[in-house]
Amino acid sequence: MPKKVKSQPSCMDASDAHSISVKQARDAIRRTLVAVRQQQLVPIRDALGRVLAEDCISPIDVPSHTNSAMDGYALNGTDLPVEGVRNYRVVATALAGQTVDMVCGPGQCIRIMTGAPMPPGTDTVVMQEQAEKLGDARVRIDSRHRVGQNVRQAGEDIPKGSRAFESGRLLRAADLGVLASLGFAELRVYRRPRVAFFSTGDELRSVGDVLAEGEIFDSNRYSLHAMLEEAGVDIIDMGVVRDDRSALEAAFREASSMADVVITSGGVSVGEADYTREILDKLGKMSFWTIAMKPGRPLTFGRLRDAMFFGLPGNPVAVMLTFRQFVRPALAYLAGGDWPTPLVVEARAETALKKRPGRFEFVRGVLSYDDRNRLTVCPSGAQGSGVLTSMSRANCFILLAEDCDGVAEGETVVVEPFAITL
Ligand code: AMP
Ligand code: MG
Repeated sequence: MPKKVKSQPSCMDASDAHSISVKQARDAIRRTLVAVRQQQLVPIRDALGRVLAEDCISPIDVPSHTNSAMDGYALNGTDLPVEGVRNYRVVATALAGQTVDMVCGPGQCIRIMTGAPMPPGTDTVVMQEQAEKLGDARVRIDSRHRVGQNVRQAGEDIPKGSRAFESGRLLRAADLGVLASLGFAELRVYRRPRVAFFSTGDELRSVGDVLAEGEIFDSNRYSLHAMLEEAGVDIIDMGVVRDDRSALEAAFREASSMADVVITSGGVSVGEADYTREILDKLGKMSFWTIAMKPGRPLTFGRLRDAMFFGLPGNPVAVMLTFRQFVRPALAYLAGGDWPTPLVVEARAETALKKRPGRFEFVRGVLSYDDRNRLTVCPSGAQGSGVLTSMSRANCFILLAEDCDGVAEGETVVVEPFAITL
């Protein structure tokens, strides 16, 4: 790990006695979460990204029968020549999906195709490229082979009765292939977390509306919606709520009655927070944090009646960053999985990065390979917390921990990629 950069935050913002660190916020959220426990049966085709609610015990062996891994000739391994060559009579053909009744005797072999069950009396396959064909019904085999070669044993991948997957497994494409190979048509999974969200602000208009002087389009609802879709949760979009006491209280009540998690953006910065804070305090148990991070300092977190509540900042980049750092892992946990550990990599800083110690900075960056095939990273553009274009250009965050006091050009930094391709 390079000297000035740590992947984990360690100290609090020296300049703000009331702020908490990124790690403290994350730990506090983690401690409060209670996973969704209701279960449902879903067809295997609908199970991608769902979390298993029970262990899957294999009802069969995989492969279900001992079979050939090659096209070639099956024979009894003890019948192979120890030296020189030997000729064999080809007495039958074994195809995938069929069984051969006849027993293969000494001096005999059976033409066999990949995946075909091993016929009685055989335990070894000589691949066709290594056998010399002598007319239609005879082959010559030399002494380079070993007993048992090119054969897949029944149950060698998954033995019958073994646990193929544990409860809590987040199902991926390969898992669904494995489960299909075991014959599972339906899977018992946890219900998805339900997330209700809305934007707050008198200046906001939804796309499709016409903007009046001083108004802006509500972009957070669309980036949030997209991030919730990526997170694989059930989404309840409640639109824009005015900066109005009774409208806000009604929205908080309605959201918390429908959802496991309520997310808002905007309205938590100083000045606006007053009555929002009052309503939230009345309806739930809240922490109003200033987090020693940039962007995205204010964050409200707590229980809103029976739901978890995240009050994200209003600035579009701060929304995306705080969602990724705090909400997304919380949703993964609520869904029944683990709190995910993000993938971080080291890269060479293409430019110097200015920073003062005290807070954790997430610099929007572009990660790429340089002409020497080294991972290299540079900022993706202006870093103001309202500048969404640099977020859109970015494929990673450059993580500058609290104690970092700047990065020199060429120095190694820790980077959290958003995507797996560059
Ligand atoms: P606030 O936290 O409500 O004071 O908002 C901080 C900044 O973010 C202000 O410039 C808002 O106009 C802007 N903002 C708040 N919510 C949204 C939104 N949903 N879409 C775009 N910008 C927003
Ligand atoms: Mg506002």
